[in-house]
Amino acid sequence: MAEATDPEKSLARRLLAGDKRALARAISLVEDDDPAGWALVREVYPSTGHAAVIGLTGPPGVGKSTLLGALTKLERARDQTVAVLSIDPSSPFTHGALLGDRIRLTDHFLDPGVFIRSMANRGALGGLSEAALQAALLMDASGRDVILLETVGVGQAEVDIIDHADTVVLVLMPGSGDSVQALKAGVMEIPDVIVVNKADHPLADTMVREIKGVLALGSRKGWKVPIVRTEAVRGEGVDKLLDELSKHRAYIKAQGTLSERHRRNLLNEVLGIATFRLRRELEASVRDDPEVKELLDRVVARELDPASAASRILERAADRDENARRR
Ligand code: GDP
Repeated sequence: MAEATDPEKSLARRLLAGDKRALARAISLVEDDDPAGWALVREVYPSTGHAAVIGLTGPPGVGKSTLLGALTKLERARDQTVAVLSIDPSSPFTHGALLGDRIRLTDHFLDPGVFIRSMANRGALGGLSEAALQAALLMDASGRDVILLETVGVGQAEVDIIDHADTVVLVLMPGSGDSVQALKAGVMEIPDVIVVNKADHPLADTMVREIKGVLALGSRKGWKVPIVRTEAVRGEGVDKLLDELSKHRAYIKAQGTLSERHRRNLLNEVLGIATFRLRRELEASVRDDPEVKELLDRVVARELDPASAASRILERAADRDENARRR
């Protein structure tokens, strides 16, 4: 087929050239589990692996969006292209419905060097975490220097997503004991940099002290997690934050942990997608295969225990694959 008549081919070309609309389209395709999306990722994948992926997480209201805006502004001033991916696992909205209202990045909408996208809970890829990594890969392929990945909240879903980042920033604000609790509970063992935003708040110093106390309890070796005070609304401290981010990147590069992180994340991605596909296949067999149905009936009748039934279902699936290969 001639290239001009193959829309996905030209989509890949436009994506690789950094076209924002092509990037938006590409992300929608993978979000919708469209085969054209997967074909596209396959094609552009060799061009990924260059962007610095920075994850921001923290409870709602601490100023993450404001900080994203300030970071984006500073990165642009330093001539870096930016993609922002904002993910809210608890939101029922999809396809960028949150864009206008949550992310205070309106200044950047017209800048070709800034791409903004939000994502909410979607089932197509099996998990938001998988969808997020696919989107990040596409952003990376489109030549963005920096990818800012933002999640709301501090639950496990957020941790899974933020794990895709090379550097993880936990954003907190003074006067919120909850977040220090979260830090203690170990959910937040992953931050590489901690930001105390709203440093103009009278309790900012207390907050920094409390965080230092919690960090001192940790067993983390090597990288010493810096605490950066920012006042996102005025852009205060954001240059300091960027410095800490580059220091961390240099550190993980030098230590080899950056490639380790990439390896671990890609492995999780492969397993995540494979697990989802397998599950979908198994669910279809429960629906369509009379023998599988019968196995389940026997479990319900207490004739067969669940684990044995599971083993047999898996054996059947493997046999089916084997037969399909032979044919
Ligand atoms: P998010 O929910 O974490 O994304 O938080 P937002 O960025 O929406 O900010 C929540 C509120 O905090 C908004 O009203 C911001 O204007 C305000 N805010 C953000 N940064 C600062 C700051 O440094 N100081 C003060 N006083 N308010 C801030």
